[in-house]
Formats: sequence, structure tokens, C-alpha cells
Amino acid sequence: MKNIFLLGATGSIGTQTLEVIEKEKYNLVGFSAGYNIKRTIEIIEKFKPKIVSIALEKDFLSLKELYPGIEIHHGDDGLVKVATFNNNDGLLVNAVVGSVGLIPTVEAIKVGKSICLANKETLVIAGDIITNLVKEYNVDMVPIDSEHSAIFQCLNGENRDEVEKIVITASGGAFRDKTRDELVGVSKKEALDHPNWAMGDKITIDSATMMNKGLEVIEAHHLFNIPFSKIETIIHYESIIHSMVEFIDGSVLAHLGLSDMTIPIAYALSYPNRIMSLKKLDFDNLSSLSFSKMDYGRFPLLKLAYEVGEMGGIMPCVMNAANEAAVELFLNEKISFLDIEKIVFNEVRSCENINNPTLDDIIRVDKEVYSSIILKNK
Ligand code: NDP
Ligand code: MG
Repeated sequence: MKNIFLLGATGSIGTQTLEVIEKEKYNLVGFSAGYNIKRTIEIIEKFKPKIVSIALEKDFLSLKELYPGIEIHHGDDGLVKVATFNNNDGLLVNAVVGSVGLIPTVEAIKVGKSICLANKETLVIAGDIITNLVKEYNVDMVPIDSEHSAIFQCLNGENRDEVEKIVITASGGAFRDKTRDELVGVSKKEALDHPNWAMGDKITIDSATMMNKGLEVIEAHHLFNIPFSKIETIIHYESIIHSMVEFIDGSVLAHLGLSDMTIPIAYALSYPNRIMSLKKLDFDNLSSLSFSKMDYGRFPLLKLAYEVGEMGGIMPCVMNAANEAAVELFLNEKISFLDIEKIVFNEVRSCENINNPTLDDIIRVDKEVYSSIILKNK
């Protein structure tokens, strides 16, 4: 029986991870939630964990009273408490959204826990630090992001020197069929209407701006130690091929599956084994797999992510923090859809790089950039 610690249990990936845990009879030893106290109580009742953390102090106090036998924490420190509970025991599934996922990942690696990573922002803002820690502490880091799970599986047992390139597929998000002129004035509701995937709000907006693919390119660079010049992106409408790897001999390995996140989640949790799923691709009813060339003029944030990835240093952190703030403002209907990219471009263009940033630099710049954008648009 596997022991699992789950950060972000109340979210989209969190909920689907709980489905896998329940089906496989894994043991949920600890979890964290943000602001959803009702769902938190339901999860406690069902899974009977030993440690729980929640964002707000008032919810922490209520939970402490309700569950005196459970170790309860709150805030950012609470995430670390869950992530490091019982040291190297079990797996940490990091499914919180945003840069708040970074420190718990760092601390979990340091106590020797293996990581199943959905929280891509961790690798975007501190990829070099994280990959060095993974080597130093000799832990596994298995991606949950579907494209990276696909690449991880295509690279399994292959010689990395024989990789020609990796090709990350993109559905194109809610506005893939709109021109840039048609993006003026699009609503939050329209932006949240993803054609292929049901996900949390932030990543759904990131898909519509194509920032998500930009974050994924940087995530792939760190996870697979592949230069940006060997990472391509392509629009693939059906989200059936989750990504591909081309080798020097011209062979291309692709990973196919339903657009259902429980599949990469189950792979990460059961790695290096596989577990049974009833959710299978039905080739008889799969009429076509279609692709189109990525248009960087149409999706400037993706182009920016390549640029920022090449710059390295603190710049991916700046881009990510600006994007987190801008998406939050858009979701709160304070700015328009196209303002998201304006804000991210402005911030990246006006910041000076810091080479080889420390963890403290990253945490400081992340907070500074995020808060200044939120304040300016109050
Ligand atoms: P959701 O918004 O659905 O869930 C986010 C989770 O994080 C919730 O449990 C939320 O708690 C919690 N949370 C939010 N803010 C805080 C905070 N300040 N402190 C503690 N907890 C917090 O996101 P998703 O599940 O969609 O995404 C999670 C991560 O996985 C993201 O990094 C995303 O990019 C990545 N990912 C998601 C995919 C998907 O299909 N959804 C696919 C691939 C990657 P609460 O709800 O209680 O407030
Ligand atoms: Mg993805």
C-alpha cells in the first residue's frame, strides 16, 4: 500500500488524484486545501488522513476543534508540514496552482520524498535549483502534466543523445479558431470554455493565451535537460496525441490516450509500474488526428516563453509572476483578455535579469512582481 501526500486536494488535479487513490486503495496520509473548507471536511471524513493543512487561520481553528486527533496546519508553512511529514515516507503529489508550490517541493525533496509534479510553475521559476536537488537527494520526479508524462514515457529506455527533438502538442485553447482582432472584448466565460479538457480556471486561461504551452516548454527543458532549440510545439486539435519524440534515425514515438488526466496521474503514482484503467481509446470511433503549424504571431506569449527560457536566470520567474497576477485580474474581471499579454510583456521587458538566482531571489522577485501588478490594477 502506497502512502500519498497530496497538495491541492480540492482542485481539479487533486480531485482526480483522489479518484485514483480511492480506486487503487492507496493511503492518503496527508493533504492540503486552499479555501474550500466544505470539500476539505468531505475529504477528511472519507480518507481519514493524519495531517491536513488549509490556507486560512479561521478554517484552521475550526478544523482543530472538529478533529482533535488530526495534525492540522495552515498557510504556506502548513504546505511544507504536509510535504515533509514522516520524512522520506511515501510520495508527494504537488497539485497546487502557482508559485506557492515551489517551497513545499524543495523541502519534500530534501527529506527524500519522491515527487509527482502537476505544479508546473515550480519548474518554470526554479528549474535549475529543483533539478539539482533531485540529483543531490536521488529522488524520482515524475511529471503529471499530460505532455510531459507522454515525453517521459517516449524517452523511457532511450539514449538521450539520440533525440533529435521533442514535439509538444497543444489543443489551442478556447480561442484557437479566432483571429487576434476577434479576441478584443472576449469574456471570462468564453475564455473558460476549453474545447477538450476540464481543468482549474488558471490553467484554462493559460491555455487560451497559449501561456500554458510556453510554461510547458520551459518545464520540458528542465525535466528532460533538452535545449530550447530542440523543443517544438504544434497545434493538435483532438488532444489524443499528448506529445512526441523524434530520434536521429527519423523514428517518431508518440504517446496517445484519452484526454483524461487520471491516466497521467495514475502513471505517476504507480511508476515504474502501470495500473489498470477502464478508460481506453476507441480507435473505431477516432475519425482523424489533425495538426496545424504553430503561429507565433497569433500566440505571442508562447514566443516570449522561448525567449525568456533562453535568457534563463530570474526571467522565467518574472514572466510567471506577471502571468499569475494578470490571470487573477482577468478572472476578477479587472482587465481584458488581451491585457494579460500586455502586462506580461511589459514586466518582462522592464525587468533586469539576475543570473543564477538563489531560492531567496526567486521568492522575493515572485512576490514583488505579483504584488506590484495587483496593486497597479486595483
Ligand atoms: P485548481 O485551481 O483546480 O486547484 C488548485 C488547488 O490549489 C486547489 O486545491 C486550491 O485550493 C489550492 N490552492 C490555491 N491557492 C492556494 C494557496 N494560496 N495555498 C494553498 N493551496 C492553494 O488547479 P488545477 O488542479 O487545474 O491545477 C493544479 C496544477 O496542475 C497547476 O499548476 C496546473 O498548471 C497543473 N496542471 C493542471 C492540469 C489540469 O488538468 N487541471 C493539467 C496539467 C497541469 P481551494 O480550491 O481549496 O481554494
Ligand atoms: Mg499540459
